[in-house]
Amino acid sequence: RTAVKSAAESAGRDRPPRLVAVSKTKPVELLKAAYDAGQRDFGENYVQELISKAPEMPEDVEWRFIGKLQSNKAKPLVHGVPSLAVIETVDSKKLADKLQNAVASMDPPRETPLGVCIQVNTSPWEGSKSGVLAEEVTPLCEHVTSACPNLKLIGLMTIGAPGESKCFDTLVECREAAAKALGVDVDALELSMGMSGDFQEAIARGSDSVRVGSSIFGARDYPPKA
Ligand SMILES: *Cc1c(COP(=O)(O)O)cnc(C)c1O
Repeated sequence: RTAVKSAAESAGRDRPPRLVAVSKTKPVELLKAAYDAGQRDFGENYVQELISKAPEMPEDVEWRFIGKLQSNKAKPLVHGVPSLAVIETVDSKKLADKLQNAVASMDPPRETPLGVCIQVNTSPWEGSKSGVLAEEVTPLCEHVTSACPNLKLIGLMTIGAPGESKCFDTLVECREAAAKALGVDVDALELSMGMSGDFQEAIARGSDSVRVGSSIFGARDYPPKA
């Protein structure tokens, strides 16, 4: 948290970005310790893991889903975590439509729309990252705002190639183009970018939300793949 604040100060920002604690694979005890230290924004990558952790944590946690989401998991996730704040990894009209239908069929209904970010692949040369290409961002944003009344477009998210800050510049450009097409101010769209290894660079380039896992919780031990 202190490192995020000082990176924001040195970038001349009046307000530090949101710090999302990425708690995938970590036991609920560690999340509770972070909560007791004041942390409220948590990011998870796996549908089943989030569904089982959410009820174990206090109700004022802001859950953000940041993992790859298959469209057949849209409904289980949305119905399984009624308090979900944002899904950051929307990468197709099909997924947006599934999320729209899932929110519309919630019982009891949500009081507020479900927040979504469009995930942008800013390093397509790697061949490994999910997300839409830069030129597909604006049409997908327009689809969410015009055809998905139960979703609220919060902003854009990217991972980017390690060490390549130009990926963050690409996300900034995508936001400019999308905001212009939607007729809104750029500040109406957040940028979710920056992880443990590169959050300082992301903050210097205008990140509004950094997703930090291993620097908070320590390195992850992945269970052996079955
Ligand atoms: C795991 C993950 C993070 C956190 O990564 P760290 O390097 O542990 O900070 C951030 N964003 C996404 C999308 C992730 O999957």
